[in-house]
Amino acid sequence: MTQSKPSRKKRKERMEAEQHFDFRCDPGVPCFTRCCQDVTIVLSPYDVVRLKSTLGISSEEFLDQYTIIISKEKRLIPIVLLKMNEKDKKCPFVTQAGCSVYEDRPWPCRMYPLDMDDEGLFFLITDPSRCQGLSRSEEWRVGDWLADQGVIPYDEMNALFGSITGPLQTHELDIDNPDIAKMLFMALYNIDKFRDFVFKSSFLDRFDVEESRIEKIKRSDLELLKFGFDWIKFGLFGQKLFSVKQKAAK
Ligand code: SF4
Ligand code: SF4
Repeated sequence: MTQSKPSRKKRKERMEAEQHFDFRCDPGVPCFTRCCQDVTIVLSPYDVVRLKSTLGISSEEFLDQYTIIISKEKRLIPIVLLKMNEKDKKCPFVTQAGCSVYEDRPWPCRMYPLDMDDEGLFFLITDPSRCQGLSRSEEWRVGDWLADQGVIPYDEMNALFGSITGPLQTHELDIDNPDIAKMLFMALYNIDKFRDFVFKSSFLDRFDVEESRIEKIKRSDLELLKFGFDWIKFGLFGQKLFSVKQKAAK
């Protein structure tokens, strides 16, 4: 039997990427899948793209079936939460064998048992009484844990998302047109509807978009999401990421 040693880091103690913590989770832990019940999981636009793709459904269907959307006054972008089952409060994707969407699980599930604060430091969000994996003696360097869990592409996309949400938090924009909030939500979270908007409306008659980029956004949700981020930055913050076609300008 492996001798367990106490976890080195206490809950809430901040860690740099170079620091270490002890953790091992597998189906042998008595608490297996307990962390997939009654949890608040905030979804980013990239989480939604990955999940709807692995489930083989449209972004609209995903939003309808699996999310709770919380809008607040004066907040242009609502919070999108993964909806737990009404009856048992379990995540809709948890099974006895574990996570059924493991390869495409959202960012918070990849990070667990860690989270990151506003300064980019890491901390444990649970303790060994609830997450027994923290009492097991497998040592992880924080940076290696993030790479192993596939967090890095998520961080890259979340940084792009943050380049929209960050300025919105610091500067209050004087926007009270609900159609703008709807457009924003579509470009961020309802990627399939946004694709229809780009290709089935007069969008491409109005904006100059390179042919190679048009081809990319036709084929890739990821490229389309990046395109949507740019379009929002152009529309909301006036960043010169698009140019209006001469004819449309007239
Ligand atoms: S609570 Fe911790 S050890 Fe238990 S299943 Fe979840 S991550 Fe693994
Ligand atoms: S998505 Fe997977 S890992 Fe995350 S809570 Fe649901 S079942 Fe658990």
